[in-house]
Amino acid sequence: MTSHDLNLIGATDGTFIPDEPFRARHLIGGEWCDSSDGATFERRSPAHGVLVSRSAKGGEAEVNAAIDAARKAFDSGIWSRISGKERATIMLRIADLIERDVERMAILETLESGKPISQSRGEVGGAADLWRYAASLARTLHGDSHNTLGEDMLGVVLKEPIGVVSIITPWNFPFWILSQKLPFALAAGCTCVIKPSEMTSATTVMMGELLIEAGLPAGVVNIVLGYGEPVGSLMTTHPDVDMVTFTGSTAVGKSITASAAATLKKVALELGGKNPQVIFPDADLEGAADAVVFGVYFNVGQCCNSSSRIIVHEDIAEDFVARVVELSRDVAFGDPLDPVTQVGAIVTPEHQKKIDAYVRDAEKAGAKVRLGGAMLSVPGLAGEFYQPTVISGVTPEMAIAREEVFGPVLSVLTFKTMDEAVALTNDATYGLSAGVWSESIHTCLDFARRAQAGTVWTNTWMDGFPEMTFGGVKQSGQGREIGPYGLEEFLEVKTVAVRIGRTRAPWVRKR
Ligand code: NDP
Repeated sequence: MTSHDLNLIGATDGTFIPDEPFRARHLIGGEWCDSSDGATFERRSPAHGVLVSRSAKGGEAEVNAAIDAARKAFDSGIWSRISGKERATIMLRIADLIERDVERMAILETLESGKPISQSRGEVGGAADLWRYAASLARTLHGDSHNTLGEDMLGVVLKEPIGVVSIITPWNFPFWILSQKLPFALAAGCTCVIKPSEMTSATTVMMGELLIEAGLPAGVVNIVLGYGEPVGSLMTTHPDVDMVTFTGSTAVGKSITASAAATLKKVALELGGKNPQVIFPDADLEGAADAVVFGVYFNVGQCCNSSSRIIVHEDIAEDFVARVVELSRDVAFGDPLDPVTQVGAIVTPEHQKKIDAYVRDAEKAGAKVRLGGAMLSVPGLAGEFYQPTVISGVTPEMAIAREEVFGPVLSVLTFKTMDEAVALTNDATYGLSAGVWSESIHTCLDFARRAQAGTVWTNTWMDGFPEMTFGGVKQSGQGREIGPYGLEEFLEVKTVAVRIGRTRAPWVRKR
């Protein structure tokens, strides 16, 4: 395939590229600070090769100081013991400030990650709604009472904030993923230490600026910039941390669980997926093909929810794959700063090579590349891109059918019966999400009930709402984010048993 076969967007005039790199510093106890040893690291735009941000590089001293600040803030009650109304008031202010600053943050998000500016605007602007929803939970949060324990007893179940939470986030949706966690932790009354991916620190720091402007008390949220080692790792072992919430790779998720075990911290994990869309012959094939293309190319496939495999009924497989290939040619690939671009750059050259290796291995194993399958250069841009790729003849044992490719690469498998479709869906170590396409409600519901997945989309893909909980089963994670269950993750439950009157018979019989 030549670049002429694609809908390629060349370099724009670079209007959005700032003259100076963004300067990112740690936020500790309400103060912005550099590292004690003065160390920094830099991030270049994966699409343009320009220097986007220069960040303080944290170490043990910064992590300890940040956790200390979070611990003191929690224990002081400045946030953990104020009313839900007071918390919600500040959180609603934060939502307004996010909306005010969408453009400024979206540009940095696009430059650091390589994602299209339209998607960064959607990600940052949409996050405001998560904050508003979490603010509503701060006010409606309550426990239980038991009034049926007998005349002389009343039982009260209190919900309390779990304490100090370490939040560790990845590079693929830095602002959104932070907003799936932070407002819910704050609604519960927790205090936090955040470490963003070292590739995408800027918008987390910008969020810190908004928290201060909104009046969040010093020390309630702290940010330490730097690498998984030592920053992330210390955040999972420190005895003053009560919980770790992490989004990223399954491998790091497992190592965090192991590190946190020494102090028995609670661990919430949102990990990878190998998410199928299953297409039955009676489906709206036009709608399904569009959703498949969206599902695999959105965020260049660098998405835990990427529908990186489709399972198509044999009778329609050829026709359906042809539709998907044709549609894939029309998707606008190229400069992420162009508002019409739908698919931008790959996050790093190493990741680009990893994607390509999956495609080469699948070819060697007998699969057929129907579209793309190679790195891509975009006129006027220096960065890393990968062609939209469709691979048919994939069999369940191939690595490309089982592992997270995290790129714009679609694997096509086929089925004959519902049982086979369900078996292929569930033949995965992951269980994040799945999709089903059919005009029959019976087919959709039968599949939805049998699929091992945290979310099942029926005749749609990747619709999400703050009210609707998100998370995975099997090795896609543990715990849930957003919705009322997302709040529960950050709460402890305490039983208070109250005797009414002096009716209890003494335990000790006096001699
Ligand atoms: P990682 O899981 O390595 O990184 C996620 C976050 O964890 C980053 O902030 C990282 O820091 C931090 N981290 C790394 N090591 C540790 C540690 N030992 N203790 C605590 N924190 C740590 O993901 P990658 O960025 O390396 O991506 C690798 C693969 O993971 C992708 O190819 C993809 O398959 C998958 N992935 C899945 C995501 C999802 O949404 N489920 C998101 C991102 C990746 P830093 O990188 O700054 O060193």
